[in-house]
Amino acid sequence: MKEFDIISTYFQRPVKHASIVKSIGDDCAILSIPESCQLVVSMDTLVSGRHFPENTLPEHIATRAFCTCLSDLAAMGATPRWFTLGLTLPEADISWISSFSHALFDIADEYDCELVGGDTTQGPLTITLQVHGFVTQGSALTRDAGVEGDAVFVTGALGDGAAGLELLLSKPVVDDETQQYLARRFHRPEPQIIAGRTIVDYANAAIDISDGLVADLQHIARASHVDIEIDVEKLPISAACQKVGGDKALHYALIGGDDYQIAFTVPRKNIDVVNSLVAQKKLNATYIGELVTCQETYPKVRCLRDGQLLSIDNEKGYQHFAS
Ligand code: ADP
Ligand code: MG
Repeated sequence: MKEFDIISTYFQRPVKHASIVKSIGDDCAILSIPESCQLVVSMDTLVSGRHFPENTLPEHIATRAFCTCLSDLAAMGATPRWFTLGLTLPEADISWISSFSHALFDIADEYDCELVGGDTTQGPLTITLQVHGFVTQGSALTRDAGVEGDAVFVTGALGDGAAGLELLLSKPVVDDETQQYLARRFHRPEPQIIAGRTIVDYANAAIDISDGLVADLQHIARASHVDIEIDVEKLPISAACQKVGGDKALHYALIGGDDYQIAFTVPRKNIDVVNSLVAQKKLNATYIGELVTCQETYPKVRCLRDGQLLSIDNEKGYQHFAS
């Protein structure tokens, strides 16, 4: 099958959104942005053998690529609208392409996000997605907007993604149901679009957790020039993740990547609103710490357990300070 036939058979569909003036099939897509909004754009590339194991099923690759890319829009409080796809394939394997495109459209439809263009080339399997979304003018949540005294919250549960990946790569040490749950959390992280939109008017700074809670909070600390103190006993860890072992679960929650939850900071004046959104189950989020004055030249994230400082090493995990 030739490149243009692949595109028209597997990637071109009737246009749904009125905002799309021209979609796949011309040199460019033409897209309209509502006047009251700003365009928010993000790109992610996944390389086979590097970002996912080489034998990963095409449907898992498509779903995970889309979800992880959309997570960046969620962290800004944006609403997804369109995406483009850069697809580099070693060969035109029709059954692979068909499974990939079906899974991609299934997940994109769930988030009402339309494919409007892309590029198809031959080479080592690589998937690049660019997602486009909207925010109301000036409302996007950024990493540099944290303020001393802000409370830190995190959506959902932490650690599932890293636990899922480790179980996929090694021998399962948990029951089948837990194994399947955690594997699904890795393959299909849930972009927190609704949570992002729920907090957009109440939060100061936000980031999505792709590299691990501590590593990603460090970005907020640096950009906002504050220290961040986390009470590790408050971290939301799922029952499934707990099953892989207490300290291991904590390790995954603190430094394991792949959760794609949102960590966000809330000014004192909005904490009651956020707590009541949580109480009404309009938002699934947990208070885990605070932004405090930067004590040294470089802003830091500090993790406390029983009032004791944990030393976090992103390579080796966390250890108690030798006292
Ligand atoms: P050009 O040669 O003008 O750059 P291409 O041959 O790369 O155009 O693409 C033709 C059309 O198909 C364009 O509208 C492009 O956006 C679209 N397209 C190419 N590859 C993909 C893909 N993987 N997914 C979606 N659209 C694609
Ligand atoms: Mg062109």
